[in-house]
Formats: sequence, structure tokens, C-alpha cells
Amino acid sequence: MNPVATIRVLLVEDEAGDAHLVRMKLGQSQSEHFDLCWAQSLTEAQQCLAASSFDVMLLDLSLPDSEGLATVHSARAMAMAIPIVVLSGRGDTDFALTALEAGAVDYMVKGDFGYDGLARVIRYALLRTEMEARNNLLVAALEAAANGIVITDKDAVVIWTNPAFSRLTGYSREEAVGHKPSDLIKSGLQDEAFYQDMWANLLDGRHWRGELINKRKNGSLYYEELNIAPVKNSAGEITHFIGIKEDISVRKEMEAQLQKLASTDPLTGLFNRRVFLERLEQEQAKVARLRRYSAVLLMLDLDFFKRVNDTYGHATGDTVLKAFAEIARNNSRATDIPARLGGEEFAILLAGADKSDALTMAERLRQQVAEIVIDHEAGPVRITVSIGAAILLADDVNSEAVLHRADAALYEAKDRGRNRTYWSCF
Ligand code: GH3
Ligand code: MG
Ligand code: MG
Repeated sequence: MNPVATIRVLLVEDEAGDAHLVRMKLGQSQSEHFDLCWAQSLTEAQQCLAASSFDVMLLDLSLPDSEGLATVHSARAMAMAIPIVVLSGRGDTDFALTALEAGAVDYMVKGDFGYDGLARVIRYALLRTEMEARNNLLVAALEAAANGIVITDKDAVVIWTNPAFSRLTGYSREEAVGHKPSDLIKSGLQDEAFYQDMWANLLDGRHWRGELINKRKNGSLYYEELNIAPVKNSAGEITHFIGIKEDISVRKEMEAQLQKLASTDPLTGLFNRRVFLERLEQEQAKVARLRRYSAVLLMLDLDFFKRVNDTYGHATGDTVLKAFAEIARNNSRATDIPARLGGEEFAILLAGADKSDALTMAERLRQQVAEIVIDHEAGPVRITVSIGAAILLADDVNSEAVLHRADAALYEAKDRGRNRTYWSCF
């Protein structure tokens, strides 16, 4: 059995008879021990509060130095943290209810204490105060959370948000409450299927997690990671949803940068060899699959580039490579893949192009390269490029074959005097 708890009670009551009754009733309690301190006025109550601490105050409203509601207000101010139970006279229930609004937790009509009534009221007052304190603590934690938190009813209408939600979205709690989050921050960048999947999970009572782009009050977009948990009542019905939002814009930005670093050549910004070979393989599969689809591979190699380095220095060589890359990029369509395979070797995959498209493009590019002049103190630097072209064939086992053909064509272009495009005959 638990040891009997001691509850420290401050009784503020000017009438000795009433005070005696309270003492007697509390003395009868089996389940706890009440340690009673009796004050006959508010002034005396204040002295008691200064001298020791209490769990609960029983307060008569009609005292020598205070009367009515003012008594509740003064007592509240004196003892902020402890619950106050008002002792009212008979037929005074309306007034006692007003006292609750003024800050008392409960009231009892004097003389109606019953067998265990007063002890029970005190017990509940303590329990309620403890629950309130706990509730306040949890709310403080939610308020302090770094993630945006939004609570909605079962129809997804917002009933509460925390300050981080406001920082993230720009909407204050007052602006958000009563609206659906989708009416406030939906960017329109997720398709219907995305939301259908989300709701299918939630209405099934399952937690849902996803990444999405939302829109702030000021119209700017941001990436958020959203976790939503349905809350159920004891009958298992969904009553609320709790959404937890984290701004992941910075992470997304870094991922995009890493992705770019991993897929591009740092000097020229063109795709690197790895990405190029992946795309070439995909394009090869597409050519094999689709009867009318064609694609062309261009292999490009600067002519006598070693001389540029030897004559003007490596830095000028780099400038030439960048200038060449710029021309390659400008002559590519959005669907083409221009890449630096290494050194002064480049390739362009012309997706969806046929022989005539490819030759026109290659010749235009070759001529533009021949027209570049790069200033150098030792004189103008000029370059030319040789191009080998080959079409992807549906019969090719893999992309090795077309790489081989385009390479052979490039070799032929070099052999025939450079600064030209050679079309693979195979
Ligand atoms: P060809 O007409 O037969 O292609 O002759 P080439 O001189 O262009 O060919 P070669 O393969 O002999 O020389 C390529 C040169 O490219 C050698 C190498 O130093 C240079 N090179 C490779 N990568 C870079 C780079 O990143 N920057 C610079 N500046 N030069 C590079
Ligand atoms: Mg009195
Ligand atoms: Mg070369």
C-alpha cells in the first residue's frame, strides 16, 4: 500500500465554526493526511504563504479585510501557483461560478461537504492543476520546436500552429486557423497523384512522410519535408492530424550542387564522361526499341592542340577548351548531350537527330570553331576541330559499337587533313 500522502491546506476562513467543520471533515479522510493551516483574514493568509508552502487554498470570500470577487483576485495574486477552492454560502452558486472565472479551480457550498466531498474536491483540484502544468509544459515544447507544427481537425482545417510554422510559411497562427493548409501554402507543383497517395495513407490511419515544394505567404517557394500523423480517439476514429514541417531548401540546394559536381566537368561545365556514357546507353536502348527513332553521335577532337599548350601555355589551352565548350553548348538543343570525355576530346549526342540534321549541326559548329580568335600577347590563337559522326543502329548490341564507329570516323577526319567532319560509312 502507498504511504498516506500529506496535502498542505491553507484555510482562509474568518468563522471559527466553519473552520472547525472543515478541519473535522478533512480529518476523516482515509486516503490522505491533510496538514491544515488556518488564516482568518487575507493579511494572515499572506503571512502563512510567506512562512511556508501549500498545495491548495480553501477560501471563504467574505473576510474581514476583503469581500466577494476581490477576495479571489487578491488570493490569486498572492498564491499564483496553488489551486484555490472557494467556500461559498448556500444559494450562492451563481456567484461561485463567477469566482471560477476569476481564477478559482472549484467551489464548495459550506455545510454540503458530505462524507468525502471536500477531500475529493481538493484531490481533483490538485490533479487538475498538475494536468494543467503538464499541458503547459507540452505546449511550451511545441512552441519552442524548431520544426513547424500544425494541428488540424479531421477535415484538415487548421486549429493550431506553432511559431516555427509562422517563420516557415509567413502565416501567423491567427491567419492559419480556420483554413486548410492546402489553401494557404499549396504551390501546385505536386500532381494530384501525390496528394491522393498522401490522403490514402492518412485516411487509412497511417503516418505519411514526403518531400514537397510549398509556397510562402509572400509567394516564394521552399522545399519542405512533411510528416503527418493521424490522431485517433478511443473508438479508433480519426479526430485530428498533426503535421510536422522542416525546411529542407538548403539541403535540396546542396544535393543539386553535389549532383551537378558529380555530373559535370569542372573546367567547361559540360557533362562528364560518366553521365555521357549513361545517356548514350539509354539512347541506344531507345533506338533499338522505337522503329522510327534515330540518334547520332559526334566525336570531336581539337586539332594540334598540343601546339597551343606548347606555344601559348597551359592556361591559354584551358581558355581555348572553355571557348570550344561554349560553342558546343550553344549549338546543342535542350535534348542533346554535349560532354567532355577527357583532355581535348569531346562528344555530342544528338538525340532524335538523323544524318542530315547531324551533318548540318557538325559543319556549323566546325566553322564557328575555326572563326574563334583568342587574344594572347604572343599573337592571336586560332584552332580547328575534327569531327567523326556515326548513327546509332538498332542492331548494335550496346553503345560500344557506335563509339567505335565515331572514333574511326574521327581518325579518318584527322587523316584526311583535319578541320573537317567525316561520316562513318559503317
Ligand atoms: P591532333 O590534331 O592529332 O588531335 O593533335 P593534338 O595535339 O590535339 O593531340 P594530342 O593528343 O597529341 O594532344 C592533346 C593535348 O591536350 C595534350 C595535353 O597536354 C592537352 N591537354 C589535355 N587536357 C588538357 C587540359 O585540361 N588543359 C590543357 N590546357 N591541355 C590539356
Ligand atoms: Mg466569512
Ligand atoms: Mg587533338
